Amino acid sequence: MKPEKIDLQNAYPCPRCKRGQLQAIVLTEAFGCDRCSQIFGLTEDNLMLEQLSTSYPYKKAWQWTGNVWKDQSRSLSDNYLPLALVFVLVSLLVISVLLVFQHNRDPGVVALLAALLLVTFLLSTVSIWLALRNRI
Ligand SMILES: [Zn+2]
Repeated sequence: MKPEKIDLQNAYPCPRCKRGQLQAIVLTEAFGCDRCSQIFGLTEDNLMLEQLSTSYPYKKAWQWTGNVWKDQSRSLSDNYLPLALVFVLVSLLVISVLLVFQHNRDPGVVALLAALLLVTFLLSTVSIWLALRNRI
């Protein structure tokens, strides 16, 4: 399914409410829905329809495949890899700390590892928060 160029002369179904019709707004490069009143803009190559919205830090976007809109918005699945990496790193660190705890009772080493664990935990929390912040 190749994306087709979006033509301002054509009528399209609304990708948001699915029931309205998109109509070109006169003198603009934008579409408006006659039902939900959402306004959509086109990307420069006319291949992508973007919802114009100021209340979100990201944009919902769609590509036209000839008869349906294909959602191009970034989803949570984009974050699976970094999230998985973070979880693996944290688990590895926890396991190594536990192993060291079993074999080494040197308070200096234990304190260092505890600090390292804390920093890693904070870093992963921050990165997960950053990754999720733009998606909700
Ligand atoms: Zn609509």
